[in-house]
Amino acid sequence: MNFNARLEDQDPEVFGFVSQELKRQRQHIELIASENFVSKAVLEAVGSVLTNKYAEGLPGKRYYGGCEYVDEVENIARERAKMLFGCDHVNVQPHSGANANFAVFYAMLRPGDNVLGMSLSHGGHLSHGGKMNISGNYYNSYYYGVDPVTEVIDYDEVERIALECKPKLIVCGASAYPRKIDFKRFADIAKKAGAYLLADIAHIAGLVVAGEHESPVPYADFVTTTTHKTLRGPRGGIVMCKEQYAAIIDKAVFPGTQGGPLMHVIAGKAVAFKEALSPEFNEYQKQIIRNAAAMAKRFTENGINLVSGGTDNHLMLLNLTDTGVTGKELQELLGEVSITANKNTIPNETLSPFVTSGLRIGTAAVTTRGMKEAEMEKIADFVTEIIRGKESAVPKVAEKVALLVKRFPMYE
Ligand SMILES: *Cc1c(COP(=O)(O)O)cnc(C)c1O
Repeated sequence: MNFNARLEDQDPEVFGFVSQELKRQRQHIELIASENFVSKAVLEAVGSVLTNKYAEGLPGKRYYGGCEYVDEVENIARERAKMLFGCDHVNVQPHSGANANFAVFYAMLRPGDNVLGMSLSHGGHLSHGGKMNISGNYYNSYYYGVDPVTEVIDYDEVERIALECKPKLIVCGASAYPRKIDFKRFADIAKKAGAYLLADIAHIAGLVVAGEHESPVPYADFVTTTTHKTLRGPRGGIVMCKEQYAAIIDKAVFPGTQGGPLMHVIAGKAVAFKEALSPEFNEYQKQIIRNAAAMAKRFTENGINLVSGGTDNHLMLLNLTDTGVTGKELQELLGEVSITANKNTIPNETLSPFVTSGLRIGTAAVTTRGMKEAEMEKIADFVTEIIRGKESAVPKVAEKVALLVKRFPMYE
């Protein structure tokens, strides 16, 4: 044990797997819609000595000494988040998106209160009232979904359910929904039902910042997001709210549901927010959408069905029902050719969540890598070749993937 040794020498075993993971990220086409690649500056912040610091409390009001520099970092993160989203108040300490949501639940609800969220199998997130999550276990959850024909949220139906179950909180936002979300309509429904509105923009935060998706900030009482999806920051969450809820939300994050904040991650968030304030970031988000549109178009031309018929955002869901391959099988076959994507339930799913009839694909990560519409068409063709040819298509497609990723070096 040598305190000053490098990871490589101190722990070759862990170093080996970190190196393998870097290699995997370089060699694969990353299509998981919730993933992205952070800049080297963000990596450096997250790997910094700020991991050593306890800073329970808020800047200027800590329970520990020696917080003068981490206070500055957290204040910078807060100011930049406010600029990015135009919110009254923000807490940048949630360790994850689920924690950010739970802070809102904990602040505003008592166990047993009714909540209404989007059903998991229609694209919602488990922290929106999922039965296996605390949000659906300590609270009494109801669900809305998408229209069975259009596969788009039926707002009249949401309103009907809301007026019937009288939730104290309505949650909107999704993990696998390829269409725009009408936050104003959700706010109207919440108002009618006498509910608070929480908008969870985990997937679309980058699009919102760039003006490529309408912002919920003017309409929702609370807005949560992860920082690591389209926003392209380190793994983590934030909660935004109207000024009137600032104190209760801060208390719900700490000491309500968390202990010490991860100051190294907050530093990473600050850096990512600076990047997101730049004009290049808007261009990046525009390209994510152009890329998703190009890929969706190509899939459709190839005869592959997409849930809701296409996409308005960074992701799409392939409906594999008539293809003879399940989501699980396709995910595994794609893994063999170094394409990473995840199986996903589709609306009115008939298979188990471990098998599924869908595949979720997002373009945030490949866009960070510099790929454009031409590459998206190629990738859609690769996936289609695998769907059609299954195991027999693997050797040829694997070769083509290797050639493609070589042209887009990363973390050199
Ligand atoms: C990803 C996601 C989350 C959870 O984020 P974690 O950081 O994994 O806890 C919450 N809500 C939605 C809508 C998401 O897509």
